[in-house]
Amino acid sequence: MDLVTVKTFDSYFLANIILGRLQSEGVECYLKDETTVTMDPILTNAIGGIKIVVKKENEASVLAILQGYDEEYLNAATCPQCGAHEFSYIAKPGITNFLTAITTTLFGSYALATDYVYQCGKCGYESERLPGFDTDENNEERN
Ligand SMILES: [Zn+2]
Repeated sequence: MDLVTVKTFDSYFLANIILGRLQSEGVECYLKDETTVTMDPILTNAIGGIKIVVKKENEASVLAILQGYDEEYLNAATCPQCGAHEFSYIAKPGITNFLTAITTTLFGSYALATDYVYQCGKCGYESERLPGFDTDENNEERN
């Protein structure tokens, strides 16, 4: 059976949220490297994060579902600066990946990765949290 990676995550919580949603839609999928990343978060970048893998023959349909999740998620956010619904999720350049790996390991809060930011496509506002959109992941971190 051929398995392909359809999405990777730095966050254990987000990976499990997406996995759960896919499974509830009847998609056969698994998390790969979940244990490694959870036990030793500094390895996340080295091994490429937690991966959602699916059967090769389901790749196209699962990618379409994931695309829908992303759009739904981003369109739900309102920019606090200009009120637009045009957020995209972009990688931050620079050495933050390495520093984040160390910091999050020291404090044991590996879900607080800052490698990516949400950026408003209209005014350029950036945030590590999607504004006005609480996820289970955020709730988890607050507790
Ligand atoms: Zn804006």
